[in-house]
Amino acid sequence: MSAPYIEADRVRKIYNHGPAAVEALSSISFSVAPGEFVSILGPSGCGKSTLLMMVGGLETLSGGRLTVGGRPVENPSTDIGIIFQDPTLLPWKTALDNVLFPIHILKRSKAEYRSRAEDLLRMVGLQNSMGQRPHQLSGGMRQRVAICRALVYEPDILLMDEPFSALDAISRDEMNVELLRIWDKYRRTVLFVTHSIREAVFLSDRVLVMGGSPSSIVSDVRCPFPRPRDFSISDTSEFNEICSFLREKIEE
Ligand code: ADP
Repeated sequence: MSAPYIEADRVRKIYNHGPAAVEALSSISFSVAPGEFVSILGPSGCGKSTLLMMVGGLETLSGGRLTVGGRPVENPSTDIGIIFQDPTLLPWKTALDNVLFPIHILKRSKAEYRSRAEDLLRMVGLQNSMGQRPHQLSGGMRQRVAICRALVYEPDILLMDEPFSALDAISRDEMNVELLRIWDKYRRTVLFVTHSIREAVFLSDRVLVMGGSPSSIVSDVRCPFPRPRDFSISDTSEFNEICSFLREKIEE
C-alpha cells in the first residue's frame, strides 16, 4: 500500500466568528492514495465544497492538519486542477485558447503547451471544435473543454465539484464514461463531489459519506469493480447493494 497522497487529520472549519460562527466541519479524517479516485457524497450544506476548497488551498483550516504529497496545504498550487459545476469559459476565446488560458496566467510558454492542449481536445472528441467559441458548443462540450483546461498543466490532483450536475441525463452518462477514459490514461488522484450515489459508485475506487451537524465522515466504502468499467456494472446486485448501503448512510 503506497503512502497517502492526500491526508486529512481531524480537519475543522468554522466560518465567521462570535454569534455568526458556523461550524461547517467538525473533525474530518481520511486519506487518499496516489492515483485513487475518491468521491464525496452527503446532503447539501454538509461541507463537501468547503472540504474540496481546503484541499485546493482556497480555504483555510480552523483546526487539524491537511497535507498533499506530505506537505501542509497553505496556498493554491499548480499541482491541483479544479473543475466546477459551471465550466466558466471565457466567451471571447476559442476552445483551444480557453484550454491554454492557465498557461497564460502561469506565464508559461503557450507554444510549448499548444500541442498538449490540442492532444487533450482530440482525446475528448473536440478535434473539430478547437476554433469554436463557447456559445457554439453544447453543455457537455463546454465541460469537456473545462476538463482539458484543468489537465493542461499536468496537475497531480483533480478536484471536481459536481461537474456534471447541470447536464442532461444522457450527456452526464457520456461524461462519466469520458472521465473514466481520461482518468485511465492519466491516473491522477481525483476527489469528486457529487449528489448522485450511482455516479459516485460507478466512477470511484472509494466513496466517502459526509454527514452529521457539524459534519464528519460517517462512511468510507470501497467500490471493488474491475476497470475499465462500463455501464453493465450498474446492473449487478453488488453495485445496487453498495448504492442502497450509501443511501441509508446519507439518510441516517
Ligand atoms: P456543501 O458543498 O456540502 O453543500 P458547503 O461546503 O457549501 O456545503 O457549506 C457547508 C456549510 O458552511 C453550510 O452551512 C454553509 O452555509 C456554510 N458556508 C459555506 N461557505 C461559507 C462562507 N463563505 N461563509 C459562511 N458560511 C459558509
